[in-house]
Amino acid sequence: MSQSVEVGGTGLEYKTGMIIRNTEPLLADLCKNCGTVVRFHVKNPDRNWITKT
Ligand SMILES: [Zn+2]
Repeated sequence: MSQSVEVGGTGLEYKTGMIIRNTEPLLADLCKNCGTVVRFHVKNPDRNWITKT
């Protein structure tokens, strides 16, 4: 049994305009039985992500 839990503190940054940065919350699929984080994911993958060039 796993559950998606929001990771606090930080997320993934994306641009909404020329200079505006926003943060997409990072979600962790947590197994509530053993505490294992199965995977990290975001709700909206189609952002204009700020990537390393
Ligand atoms: Zn488990």
